[in-house]
Amino acid sequence: MTAPNKKSKHPAVGIDLGTTYSVIARLDELGRPQTLNNAEGDKITPSVLLFEDGNVVVGKEAAKAAATDADNVAECAKRDLGNQFYHRQIGGRRYPPESLQAWILNKLRVDATRQIGAFSKAVVTVPAYFDEVRRKATMDAGYIAGLEVMDIINEPTAAAVAFGFQQGYMNPDRPDDQRKKILVYDLGGGTFDVTVMEIGGRNFNALATDGDVMLGGKDWDQRLVDFVAEEFIRKFGLDPREEPNSHGRLWRDCEDAKRTLSARAKAQIACDFRGQALRVEVSRSQFHDMTKDLLDRTSFTTRQTLQAAGLEWPDIDRVLLCGGSSRMPAVVEMLRDLSGKEPDCSISPDEAVAHGAALHAGILLAHYDGVSPSFHVRNVNSHSLGVVAMDARTRRPRTAVLIPRNTPLPVVARRVFKTQRVGQKSILVQIVEGESASPDDCSQLGKCSVRDLPAELPAQTPIEVRFRYEENGRLTVTVKVEGTDKALKHEMSRENSLSSEELDSWRKYISGLDPIAPPPPANLSGEAIQLAAGAKAADDALDYAPESEGPPADPNAGTVKRRWV
Ligand code: AMP
Repeated sequence: MTAPNKKSKHPAVGIDLGTTYSVIARLDELGRPQTLNNAEGDKITPSVLLFEDGNVVVGKEAAKAAATDADNVAECAKRDLGNQFYHRQIGGRRYPPESLQAWILNKLRVDATRQIGAFSKAVVTVPAYFDEVRRKATMDAGYIAGLEVMDIINEPTAAAVAFGFQQGYMNPDRPDDQRKKILVYDLGGGTFDVTVMEIGGRNFNALATDGDVMLGGKDWDQRLVDFVAEEFIRKFGLDPREEPNSHGRLWRDCEDAKRTLSARAKAQIACDFRGQALRVEVSRSQFHDMTKDLLDRTSFTTRQTLQAAGLEWPDIDRVLLCGGSSRMPAVVEMLRDLSGKEPDCSISPDEAVAHGAALHAGILLAHYDGVSPSFHVRNVNSHSLGVVAMDARTRRPRTAVLIPRNTPLPVVARRVFKTQRVGQKSILVQIVEGESASPDDCSQLGKCSVRDLPAELPAQTPIEVRFRYEENGRLTVTVKVEGTDKALKHEMSRENSLSSEELDSWRKYISGLDPIAPPPPANLSGEAIQLAAGAKAADDALDYAPESEGPPADPNAGTVKRRWV
């Protein structure tokens, strides 16, 4: 095995920041991933926070408090990333989801520091299907927690890297000619991802990815909670979900019963509320029936991803399971039936993602130290990226895609649009992410505008919009107006994300660390860049250009080869 971090003075740290549980790992002196225990001595830390007497407790004790002090407990904040605030108030306060995620990361950092000494550099994982806004919010959470997030990588990719390590793919003595295609099915507590990867020698290339950021073990729990609550209502006319603490207790017992049903044919769930008590028995087949539609959703997405990779089941060498919810026997059965192969459960569903992240951290640190990497990861983007343009035929806005989903990263793509009118004063570039032709159904990433165009600029003047999309999901947008010196370059700022002042004050508050000055945004011409709130409605949208090619602007970057539609 190689030891990618041997030379670095920094420990190679990887963090799986899960919806329900989080894990931190580092590479040991021999370059092997090792999970670090938290202060309670556990390998996994519940991603749960308890706000109590001005303190924030993260982990097991906070999870226990969900049954007694539910109003002061925050769970599943990962599902709210990208929104301005966590979905409910805690102790009368509204918190941005980034801050809640940061408290979890901060606990992992502080507890790990006790074992490996002070560190700040780390790789954090995100679901492959996370969009730009959620990726940025995750990086911001890392900053608030006092981390220097070297990179964010996709959870299924991290799991595949851990698998590759375990199988000896990173061993330099191993012949490079073996290509294996693996499908990673990752069902966690709050998110579902499926990714098809090709491992060729020491190269890990994602071929296609898809998923659902609102589907995970929590939804299976919810079905049991609802089932027991309905029984309770039928028997006593009372709903135990009405009161937060009894709801929290019921939830905890249902999650427990779900785990029992992975090992046994039946489970008992006790529920008491307002002096009434009920014991409900649930069989595994009953549980399967009440959650079949959820499993079907994952099956549908799995088939779609395989298709998007241009493959069929006989092409797949392994079906790799990860995420705690993949322990459910129904998942294994469904994948066995679908693929005709025995799913591979050889990696630890809880630890593999953090291990893969630590291996990736080792590679980055080695790279900083001038050591050539022992493996290379190439990802694809999970959502199409484009701009809003005016359709000349219908005069309605529509999405003009620059980078279609499942494009290998990094990539540079270019598309030429036209000004709409003679003497147009400004151009508004609205960046969107999603698969719909209607911009309203896509996620709005932000806006920038080119102002003060020369008077009498002819209609149909070409405007080149160029996207550079990095492997870590950072997007740089360049806009050039032909025949003028008007150009702007901007690394995207996202709507709904915290300002740098807010980030700094949260950082001081949560991690106790001082702010680090961020690099100023690159700006080609010194042109004022108006983002989001500043962009006026009077700016003209781009005219939709039906076709234009995107030649490579950077020899090291991939290019989108297809013709635009
Ligand atoms: P992860 O986000 O990968 O840590 O997965 C956490 C999810 O896995 C939670 O929803 C857990 O309830 C679920 N989980 C863990 N162990 C089991 C099990 N034995 N059977 C069913 N679900 C499980």
